Amino acid sequence: MRNKFLGVLAGALALSACGSDVPEGGIDADRLINAAQDTANWITYGRDYAEQRYSPLDQVNLETVSDLGLAWYADLDTSRGQEATPLVMDGKLYVTTAWSKVKAYNAATGEPLWEYDPEVPGETAVKACCDVVNRGLAAWGDRLYLGTLDGRLIALDRDTGEEVWSEVTVDQSKAYTITGAPRVINGKVLIGNGGAEYGVRGYISAYDADDGEMLWRFYTVPGSPEEAETESEAMAAARETWNGEWWKLGGGGTVWDAMAYDPELDLLYIGVGNGSPWNQAYRSPGGGDNLYLSSIVALRPETGEYVWHYQSTPGETWDFTATQHIMLADIEIDGTERQVLMQAPKNGFFYVIDRATGELISADNYVPVNWATGIDVETGRPIEVPEARFDKTGVPFVSTPGAGGGHNWHPMAFHPGEGLVYIPAIEAAFPYFPEENWQADPARGFNVGVDQSAGAMPADNAVREGAAAATKGSLIAWDPVTQTERWRVQYPGPWNGGVLATGGGIVFQGTAGGYFNAYNAADGSQVWSFAAQTGVVAPAMTYTVDGEQYVAVLAGWGGIWALAPGGILNETSGPVPNISRLLVFKLGGTAELPPAPELARRPLDPPPFRGNVNDLAQATYDYGRYCGGCHGDAAIGSTVLPDLRRSAVLDNSNTWQQIVHDGALSFNGMVGFSDSLSAERIEGIRQYVIFRANQDKELGGIGAQGG
Ligand code: CA
Repeated sequence: MRNKFLGVLAGALALSACGSDVPEGGIDADRLINAAQDTANWITYGRDYAEQRYSPLDQVNLETVSDLGLAWYADLDTSRGQEATPLVMDGKLYVTTAWSKVKAYNAATGEPLWEYDPEVPGETAVKACCDVVNRGLAAWGDRLYLGTLDGRLIALDRDTGEEVWSEVTVDQSKAYTITGAPRVINGKVLIGNGGAEYGVRGYISAYDADDGEMLWRFYTVPGSPEEAETESEAMAAARETWNGEWWKLGGGGTVWDAMAYDPELDLLYIGVGNGSPWNQAYRSPGGGDNLYLSSIVALRPETGEYVWHYQSTPGETWDFTATQHIMLADIEIDGTERQVLMQAPKNGFFYVIDRATGELISADNYVPVNWATGIDVETGRPIEVPEARFDKTGVPFVSTPGAGGGHNWHPMAFHPGEGLVYIPAIEAAFPYFPEENWQADPARGFNVGVDQSAGAMPADNAVREGAAAATKGSLIAWDPVTQTERWRVQYPGPWNGGVLATGGGIVFQGTAGGYFNAYNAADGSQVWSFAAQTGVVAPAMTYTVDGEQYVAVLAGWGGIWALAPGGILNETSGPVPNISRLLVFKLGGTAELPPAPELARRPLDPPPFRGNVNDLAQATYDYGRYCGGCHGDAAIGSTVLPDLRRSAVLDNSNTWQQIVHDGALSFNGMVGFSDSLSAERIEGIRQYVIFRANQDKELGGIGAQGG
């Protein structure tokens, strides 16, 4: 406090008397509520509380966009996936990077102002299903708020980057992680977390922006029977929808990404994730809807009190999260203006919901769907295909969409003039092999009751090429009124970037193949393209400084698709390197990137396999369970993390044990697995990788080129 005068002191006392809703300077409740009109700045994750990611700025438009050039760029000090949306306030740009670091720049010139590193321990990486990413900051007063991979919520001074307070928001002995951006409503910082592939219980919490005091916490799934005595009606209702002893398994329902807020209705909307474990036969034997998994839940932001929910996938068993982008808009349906909430969750259906009541208005599939034939609008429930329930039948099912979703975390955008929602869509199937004799295992490892080794790609080029050809990405312009596709841009592979729409009639999107493109918002024709040298997964944003419009996007290939299946299935666009870099454009920009480096990969030259192929069953399982999530299905690695088939230590069992058993590389995220796996089983994994490397060397084709 800098209260030199009594009058100021009196004012400050008055402020503190009404709580933390009036910050000292900078961002306040009014500015956040009116963020959509604040064209110069971008002060909250989705640009406004409605999360529309639409900027009215029109200096860069269909006529001028050909003159768009690089204004400045900044190389980042990480080489993992970059998923963040920068914030811009008063000519300064703030962005998070992989490993939860924060950087501040002069938004016009790129001059670095400060940086902050929360020093997340490298070992935390093993708790993260989907790369060590971070999606952004929240702003309030003269501070910024950051969630870190290891579960801290940190307040930073916006001018200096100095830490003001830091609170641990999770039980760090469990596999909780934070990758999502916080939001602030009226002085309360809202933050969730991830970890539902590892046996955790989901929740969202509110912290006082002033001092970090926790104000409320809303759990998304019921806890132990002892908790039933003191729980809310909403939780008691949820408890009726569960069976077995789910609380011992965590239950899942993590709130790892989407939030939106309607200030008029005073409702906070949160997207709730999948069950933990995925396979419902183990999580809740006998079934049940398992509230509030795979739901949108409306809460009172002041208290965390439940208001309504809509569950898109009752009894979820396919990793069908409803954490995807939640977007609010007022649109005319059947002659009436409706206050709607829109979402394209993983399950493949696009939902238009009355955001005051939670009533389903309409739903239709935006990508091909084979697990359900549609949504019954009367009940709001999917019409499931019986064989999709592998948890009940015990028979494997190949679902479209799969666990990657028809749409994942990549933000959509809305263009109010066109009335279109732009969806970065994915077409990719996933084989669900129910895991027999599944055991809860508090030790490390992706542990979901679906056999990941059985899900690994067969070593057959024809199968791989077929799967790669059937796996696609697209930018879909979706009319939410008619529930139909207006146009699409087809990409060879999935995992393309988030989206920005502007008043210049343009939709911006980066691609997995290494470009940052501009499309005509009305018809999808490409109007501009920039070679980004790396895969772009983050969404772009735009702002002005001194009246000049800038467009910024974080580049840097990564995230779950790049790590797990990407080595095999992204071949059509070619392996792309990770070059982590902030790119900022303006009309007449003349900056140039340095030449793209050669993608350096070790040759596929493994030692000979001397074991017995028939002894590899356990090792195949262990690889899929403990290694494949990061090092790639069937040991075909990505360009982000080492392709083990090409590893220099493959030939050296001692070094292999030092790394995989003892954890010699823990500092950069490769922990030791001695608490889950014996030295013998770790040697088995080495033999499996040697076997797979030789197989691919002999086969040639896609596997030999992969990653
Ligand atoms: Ca998940």
